Amino acid sequence: MATPEIDFDLCIGCGSCVEVCPEVFQLQDDKAVVIGPDKCGSCNCQEAADICPTQAIRLG
Ligand code: SF4
Repeated sequence: MATPEIDFDLCIGCGSCVEVCPEVFQLQDDKAVVIGPDKCGSCNCQEAADICPTQAIRLG
C-alpha cells in the first residue's frame, strides 16, 4: 500500500486533499499533514494526489 507524503514547500493549503480524504489528511497551520497514512480504503490516495493542484502529495 502506498504511503502518502506531503511536500510542505509545494502545499498551498487549499484543502482539496482533506475534502477527498479526511481520514488521511488534515489541515494544520495552513498546510496539509498526513494523519492516517494507512487509512485510505479505496484508492491508495491516488485520488488525493491527482486532485492536488501543486503535486504536493507524493505516494511513497
Ligand atoms: Fe496541500 Fe495539495 Fe492538499 Fe491542497 S491538495 S492542501 S496543495 S497537499
